[in-house]
Amino acid sequence: MSTDCLFCRIAKGEIPAQVVYRTPTAIAIRDINPQAPVHLLVIPLEHVETLNDTADAEFLGSLLVAAREVARRERLDLKGYRVVVNNGVEAGQTVPHLHLHVLGGRAMRWPPG
Ligand code: AMP
Ligand code: ZN
Repeated sequence: MSTDCLFCRIAKGEIPAQVVYRTPTAIAIRDINPQAPVHLLVIPLEHVETLNDTADAEFLGSLLVAAREVARRERLDLKGYRVVVNNGVEAGQTVPHLHLHVLGGRAMRWPPG
């Protein structure tokens, strides 16, 4: 846990967020600045900065399982959805705490910007 990390503080309940799903190791919240009709963030409770910082398959797998579950709950599985992980500066990562974006509810373009 990092005391000055936004997502650590949200995970601890110190900063309010719309939590839509919880597992023993992660939460899913609504993004404050949604880029699609449904835009959720799957956030591990453990502070890991980027994908570069862990190769723990069980940990990483559990985040994907949480992403598929929130997508199913939001009924995004029927039409499709996108799961995105921004890693580092060139990818546009703004919060240095690993998280999965789950985006859906509209047609997506490819390639992403
Ligand atoms: P990234 O740019 O991949 O690091 O994604 C960070 C995401 O966190 C952005 O989509 C922001 O809109 C979102 N975000 C920032 N602050 C908050 C907050 N307090 N509650 C919910 N989402 C947030
Ligand atoms: Zn953190």
